[in-house]
Amino acid sequence: MNDSPLNLYRKRVLEHHREPRNRRRAVDADRQVVGFNPLCGDKLTVYITLNEDELADVAFEGTGCAISIASASMMTEVLAGADAETARQLVTEVEKMFAGNGELTDPRLEELKSLGSVKQYPSRIKCATLAWRAAANALQDKSEQVTTE
Ligand code: ZN
Repeated sequence: MNDSPLNLYRKRVLEHHREPRNRRRAVDADRQVVGFNPLCGDKLTVYITLNEDELADVAFEGTGCAISIASASMMTEVLAGADAETARQLVTEVEKMFAGNGELTDPRLEELKSLGSVKQYPSRIKCATLAWRAAANALQDKSEQVTTE
């Protein structure tokens, strides 16, 4: 084993997949959006509970590949506690990074760099961005399902 940055990144992804954070149904959530990636079969529901303008709780449930679950898990940790405007900015920064249009600069997104290598695999980008796209719709109070195709 060596702990090159790439190996450390893989470990972070696997660790989030094995023990996803905030993977639960939030029955009283204010916002709830389903994200579906038919190419891979990932299907996640993102729940956001608001306390005025603050994202008091962010959770998800569903099934998917390691990348989609790890990314959703990281998303819940990054967005919980943020105000809505900050959350929107963080989601945009992540979407731009996966689209190849920018780097992650916000320190709260440090862990997301572990998923940056999926940019080499266009089909996996959809896995990595699924939860974030669902969260983006939830923040805009759109409740329809997000589909990557
Ligand atoms: Zn997937």
